[in-house]
Amino acid sequence: ISSKLPNTGTTIFSVMSALANEYKAVNLGQGFPDYPMNEALVAKVNEAMQAGFNQYAPMQGYLPLREVLAEKVHFLYGTTINPDTQITITPGGTYGIYTSLTTVLQPGDEVIIFEPAYDSYVPNVLVNGAIPILIELKFPDYKIDWEEVRRKITPRTKFIMLNTPHNPTGAVLGESDVRQLRSIVEGTNIFILSDEVYEHLIYDNIPHQSILRYPDLLERSFVTFSFGKLYHCTGWKMGYCISSPALMQEFRKVHQYNCFSCHTPSQVALAGFLKDKDSYLQLSGFMQAKRDYFHRLMSGTRFSPMPSYGSYFQCYQYDRISEEGDADFAVRITKEFGVATVPVSAFYQSGRDHKVIRFCFAKKEETLEMAVERLVKV
Ligand code: GLN
Repeated sequence: ISSKLPNTGTTIFSVMSALANEYKAVNLGQGFPDYPMNEALVAKVNEAMQAGFNQYAPMQGYLPLREVLAEKVHFLYGTTINPDTQITITPGGTYGIYTSLTTVLQPGDEVIIFEPAYDSYVPNVLVNGAIPILIELKFPDYKIDWEEVRRKITPRTKFIMLNTPHNPTGAVLGESDVRQLRSIVEGTNIFILSDEVYEHLIYDNIPHQSILRYPDLLERSFVTFSFGKLYHCTGWKMGYCISSPALMQEFRKVHQYNCFSCHTPSQVALAGFLKDKDSYLQLSGFMQAKRDYFHRLMSGTRFSPMPSYGSYFQCYQYDRISEEGDADFAVRITKEFGVATVPVSAFYQSGRDHKVIRFCFAKKEETLEMAVERLVKV
């Protein structure tokens, strides 16, 4: 058959989760919480179903949900967003990214992607006939080399893709990154895709550099978010995208003929739940405690932590343990020691291997303890 993605395999998240299941390993690979989500939010979904919210939601999303999201954006970032024209509810963050790219990419367009990159980005670009222009983040702190970005801009550059807090490394953008970005895109037709699904998972009181803080940049941006990350319900596949009115109008043309609209009862539930600001403000502290707990436990192993400021991932180097490549190493510790992780080389098209593996710490304390009891033996 003629494949649109001949060199693309099965996503590493499915591969490592399957291996974890096969070997009954503790799964710190694929990013998802193993503790229950908030019961009050579950109750609200039930209430919405019982109240009869079981038919199609509006294509752009349930209006009260978009309204409360606009309030949240204003409260957090001081920017006024029109809920009618600038927000669309999507089935997950990844879908928002795919749809944003598909909305504007033409065959032959170039898209700047920083690696390590979330594994959907490159296939999303390729399936649109566009060309990924790969730039490696500087190892080991995973900062953007803006001079290299300047060198790689061409008249065909259509998008710069950003992700802060960053999956898989937990790196975050600072104000100086935004200044560099602005000076590069000013006066060009370059769009920005800003993947901010870990918006609230940022630690040590560092402010999240959302594109939503900068109305001039938002004019040319698609910014994607995830309720799965916000409320510990990755299986809901719910998120949203924010853009300028003009771009959002185009986004909706693609969206309406793909999934059309999203699960109605959860939108009704989320609209009610989001009114309580604590429902999102407490998340950073909650997850930082998990990160710190995991750090403390891991200090008893031979793994060396990499700097991480956000997301629910923590990368570790294992150079004191083994010289194996990271993919082999990750498979071996799943099979032999019963802990699944994700090798960071999977986030590079080149397979660049700095011998780093990613752990997800969005887990119950007992899960983290069980994992580390095994990892001390590695
Ligand atoms: N975002 C999650 C991760 O990085 C996984 C999402 C998925 O499995 N598609 O682990």
